[in-house]
Amino acid sequence: MELAYKSIIELKKLIDNWETSSEEIWKYFNSRAQNLDSDLHAFNSFNETWFQKSDNILSWIPLWIKDIFCESWIPTTASSNMLKEFVPPYDATLISKLKEAWMSSLWKCNMDEFAMGSSGENSAFASTINPHGTNRIPGGSSSGSAAAVAAWLVPASLGTDTGGSIRQPASMCGVIGFKPSYWRNSRFWVMPMASSLDTPGTFTLTVQDAALLYDIMNGEDTNESSSLPGKDSIDSKIWDSQNLKWIKVWVPKEYFEEGLDTEVKEQIQNSISEMKKLWAEIIDISLPMTKFAVAAYYIICPAEVMTNLARLDGIRYGHNSQLPNNGVDEIYLHNRGEGLGSEPQRRSILGSYVLSAGFYDAYFKKAAQIRTRIIEDFNKAFESVDVIVWPVAPSVAWKLGQNSEDPLKMYLEDAYTIPASLAGLPGISIPCGFATSADEEKTKLPVWLQILAPRLEEQKLFQVSYVLEQALNLREKMIPEKYKV
Ligand code: GLN
Repeated sequence: MELAYKSIIELKKLIDNWETSSEEIWKYFNSRAQNLDSDLHAFNSFNETWFQKSDNILSWIPLWIKDIFCESWIPTTASSNMLKEFVPPYDATLISKLKEAWMSSLWKCNMDEFAMGSSGENSAFASTINPHGTNRIPGGSSSGSAAAVAAWLVPASLGTDTGGSIRQPASMCGVIGFKPSYWRNSRFWVMPMASSLDTPGTFTLTVQDAALLYDIMNGEDTNESSSLPGKDSIDSKIWDSQNLKWIKVWVPKEYFEEGLDTEVKEQIQNSISEMKKLWAEIIDISLPMTKFAVAAYYIICPAEVMTNLARLDGIRYGHNSQLPNNGVDEIYLHNRGEGLGSEPQRRSILGSYVLSAGFYDAYFKKAAQIRTRIIEDFNKAFESVDVIVWPVAPSVAWKLGQNSEDPLKMYLEDAYTIPASLAGLPGISIPCGFATSADEEKTKLPVWLQILAPRLEEQKLFQVSYVLEQALNLREKMIPEKYKV
C-alpha cells in the first residue's frame, strides 16, 4: 500500500480501519520529506515535538504550514532575515482549530518573503523548486506549500492568498488550491501582508480534502474584526452529482484573447467543453473594470504592506544590526536595510509614496474607487451566472530567474488572480492537463483553470469543482516523474 498517493480522507479511512496508524503515516511522510527536500527547498523548519506530545495520535494526520502562521514555540520567519530568530508564544486561531480537530503541523513551508512574490524566488533563505522541472519556479508566494503537496511529501498544506498566492502556485505545481471568501478564515496571528486582502486557504490533492479542511477552519473568531459571525458547515449533499442542476458558467472572452499562451488556452478550452457536455451552459458577460485590477492592487497592496511592516524595526524583536549608529534614524535604517529583502523594501517605499499627502488622492483613493467598481462588476455578473471560469496565469511555470530582475513583469503575471482578491471572492484552481513551455526547453508542465463563485458561496464552488475533477480524473497523472514512489 502506497501512503504517498492518498488524500487526507483516504488516509483517515485507513487509520479508522486499522490498516495503518498515525505513527506509520508520520514516519512515512517524515522520511519522504527528509530524503527528497534537498532538491526542492520546500520547508524552513521541522516540528517534531507535537507528535511526541500528542495524546490523540490515533487520529492524527500531518499538515505543512506556510511559515507565516504563528505556532507557539515554533520558529515562524515569513522567510525573512528580519524574523529569522522569531519564535512566537501563541498559535494562530486556525492552527488551534486544526490541532483540536485531528491535524498537526510537521513542517513550516518556505515562501516569498512576507508573502510578496509570484515565483518563490523572494525567500531570504532559498528558492523553492517546482517538482515538475528542476529549473522551474513553483509559483508564489506559498511556494513551499504547493511544492510539498505536488511532490507528495505531505497530503495537504496551508497557505495565504492575498493576490493569488494559493491559486497560482497550486496551478504551477498541479495541485488543488482553494481560497475561501475573505471573511471566512481567521487571520488572527497570521502575519499580515495586506490586511484587506489576506486570506488563508489550502493546498490539497482533492476537492473533497479542500472542503474538509475548510469545514474545520472557517467560522467566527471574536479576535478578528473582519471575521463573519457563524460557521459554514459543509452539506454532504453537494457531493452527489445528481444535485448539480444545469448551471450557468461565464467564460470571459476578453481573457482568452491577448497574452495567454496558446497551449494553455487549448487545454483550458478542452476542459470548458467537458463542462459543457456535463452540466454547463456557457454564457457571455462582461467585466470591464477588471483590466484595471493589477494597477489598483499594486497601489492598495504596497500601501497596506507599508503600514504592516512599519512595526518591524528590530528594536523589541527582529533583526538587530551590529553596525554603529548615530541615533534612532540609523538604527531603523540598519535594522530594516539588513533585515528586509528588496521586494518588501520596494513595497514599503511605494506604499509610503501612494499614501503621502500630495499623492493620496491621485493614487490610493483612485485605486480604492476602482476596487469598488470591480466589486460592482462581479456583483452584476453573478446576477446572470453561477460561476466564472478563466485561467489562473498567462503561461505555465517559467524558468528560475526569468522574471526576477523585472518586478513589473512579475506583477503582470497576477492579472488573472487579483480581480477575485480585490472582491474577496472564493476561488479554486484545478489542474486540467499539461502544456509544453514556450521556451526552448519545451518542458511539459501542469495547466489549470480557475473557478470563482459569488461571495460566501464556497459550497457551490466545491460542488462544481468536484464534478469537473471527477470528469478530468487527473490526480495520478499529476505526479511528477521524479517523485513517483
Ligand atoms: N503575487 C502577488 C504579490 O506579490 C500576490 C501575493 C500573495 O497573494 N501573497 O503581491
